[in-house]
Amino acid sequence: MAGVAIVTGGSRGIGRATAILLAERGYDLVVNYQANAQAAAETVAAVQGLGRQAVAVQGDVGSEADVAAIFAAADRLGRLTALVNNAGVIDAPERLDEMSLARLERMFRINLTGSFLCAREAVKRMSTRHGGSGGGIVNLSSAAAVLAGAGQYLDYAATKAGIDIFTLGLAREVAAEGIRVNAVRPGIIDTEIHASGGMPDRIAQLREQLPMKREGTAREVAQAIAWLLSDEASYTNGTVLNVTGGR
Ligand code: NAP
Repeated sequence: MAGVAIVTGGSRGIGRATAILLAERGYDLVVNYQANAQAAAETVAAVQGLGRQAVAVQGDVGSEADVAAIFAAADRLGRLTALVNNAGVIDAPERLDEMSLARLERMFRINLTGSFLCAREAVKRMSTRHGGSGGGIVNLSSAAAVLAGAGQYLDYAATKAGIDIFTLGLAREVAAEGIRVNAVRPGIIDTEIHASGGMPDRIAQLREQLPMKREGTAREVAQAIAWLLSDEASYTNGTVLNVTGGR
């Protein structure tokens, strides 16, 4: 059923791996990014190298106008059948009693509001209630949603726990309208997000504590996302799939 897929935060990390894997599965791609145009261009080139259409769209998922532009780009490519709500941020380790309002507002706006806004636009296009012909949405949760992030990032963990219940609620809301909504819950994955949160050595520090004694790859998370979007997962709805290596 391929069609057009939007991957938010598709320029790097899990988003890039997902865009490339979805292209291998026959999707055309909208590769959204926030700041790194070079990385987005590399993802687009990789998708095009697989013979699929791709366009990079700069935009902040927490901005309603930017989200409108991301979806307009998808409309120009063809019929939207998949949304991967992947864009997400962490921040430097802090206790709650150190956190600023600016930090909290940024975290909630990008990780939660951004996923809501993008899913809203996807539902408007995919739902049979709106004349669409169905599709799939996959949200990015995190192991932090259940580990809770004490002493490091209660805010991030709370946004991801919010993603979990948003996934279930939206799945039920649109289940009869041809849309399945699921989430993946990655554990420790080898991307630049750890450095962006001021913890460049995080993976090396945690590796020995991980059940499989290794971190996961972005490709391993992408494979779970692609499966959830595929017809092989046709009765899987409202679920959160752990991709944590058993952590
Ligand atoms: P990453 O390597 O840091 O990449 C983040 C991506 O999101 C980049 O493409 C970035 O764009 C984009 N982005 C950031 N803020 C944005 C915004 N406001 N609007 C649109 N795009 C934005 O992250 P990652 O590790 O691949 O993580 C992807 C998702 O998986 C996140 O939701 C994260 O919380 C979740 N996750 C990751 C791990 C892990 O260990 N890596 C574990 C659990 C969950 P630019 O390139 O332009 O900066």
